[in-house]
Amino acid sequence: MDEYDYTARKDTVAQAFAERFGAAPALWARAPGRVDLMGSHTDYNLGYVMTATVDRDTWIAARPRADRQVRIGSLNVASSAAFSLDMIEHDDDAPWTNYVRGVAVALQEAGYALRGFDGLVHSTVPFSSGLSSSAAIEMAAAVVFAAVSGFDLDPVQMALIGQRAENHFVGVNSGILDQYSSALGQSGSALLLDCRTLTHRAVPLNPSLQMVICDTRAARNLTGTEYDERRAQCEHGVRLLQRAYPAIEALRDVSLEQLAAHCDALPEVVARRCRFIIEENRRVLDLARALPVGDRVRLAKLYADSYAGARDLYEIGAPSMAAMMDAMLAAPGVIGARQAGAGFGGCMIALVECEQVVAFSAAVERTYAAGTGIQPRVFPVTASDGAGLLAF
Ligand code: ADP
Ligand code: MG
Repeated sequence: MDEYDYTARKDTVAQAFAERFGAAPALWARAPGRVDLMGSHTDYNLGYVMTATVDRDTWIAARPRADRQVRIGSLNVASSAAFSLDMIEHDDDAPWTNYVRGVAVALQEAGYALRGFDGLVHSTVPFSSGLSSSAAIEMAAAVVFAAVSGFDLDPVQMALIGQRAENHFVGVNSGILDQYSSALGQSGSALLLDCRTLTHRAVPLNPSLQMVICDTRAARNLTGTEYDERRAQCEHGVRLLQRAYPAIEALRDVSLEQLAAHCDALPEVVARRCRFIIEENRRVLDLARALPVGDRVRLAKLYADSYAGARDLYEIGAPSMAAMMDAMLAAPGVIGARQAGAGFGGCMIALVECEQVVAFSAAVERTYAAGTGIQPRVFPVTASDGAGLLAF
């Protein structure tokens, strides 16, 4: 199926919905995936991220029910489930439904009265590769619940609900970045997100630049220990730095000069982690100036530094990422390239001269496949609007 042909996609999903539930869908929710243009691991340090939605998204076709049952299936996954809103349990047989269940739990805990629905999910966001298919399904589910139950959900509240679902019900200790981006994304712009205040400013992408996703297709597992270990190391750094600077609450509050002055009080590895986060935060703010004007020299440097810091200081690199980085930097039209998502494989992102996207993509595919034996997925993405109902 053509990922971008909404008409064909709607027909496919509507037909499958009718076969499964014996009626036509009454509403359609949509939520996009996202990519970080700068700001790896800065979100849980209450810092800044430059994030953009992508034009790959998750849809849920739905039909309200008179009772409090939710029946949910996905065209991307074989399993499906039915559950009652009165007793929502963790599902080990269809674990993907925990994202939908978790959203229902978080909404009910926040005091919303929910109604049931029949729903069918379909996504064009690749799973588990750093483009946040999990946030997309959570935000789409929240849109469906709000629509069938008859209440309005503020997008920031919706993002927090999704994060709560993921943290408490699914059991992934993620920050707010993914859900915030999917809920508040804006077509044509990146968002400069402040993870402390949960506010953002739209930063227009210079139209001569194209974002290109380069998916290493190397396995990546974030429920592993690495992510939690990085978080713990940052918190450790904050606790030690608080002895000198009692006012700081997060690495967001620490300057490079302050870190340098007290580096000796930190274990070497903790100091390196802190340095990366503080530098990365600064790069996000620099990027906000370089992106709208398309400052090529500045962009190249910011991206190179972000990748080097992620690899050497934060140590979230992988051989597949190094191979992809080489392929991206050698390809025609590249302006800057770096990791996306949490690292350890998954997707990477390049900013590419608009008119060279085709040549860039072909060269990256060729070089990466020749070096690794893995066929990557390379595709341009455009920032799209945040989660909401589709008007069909
Ligand atoms: P990421 O968010 O980077 O894609 P995660 O591991 O956080 O990776 O989330 C991926 C998981 O989200 C999938 O393994 C699946 O359980 C669930 N998921 C996302 N989209 C869908 C979908 N369209 N249908 C079923 N499950 C989905
Ligand atoms: Mg996720």
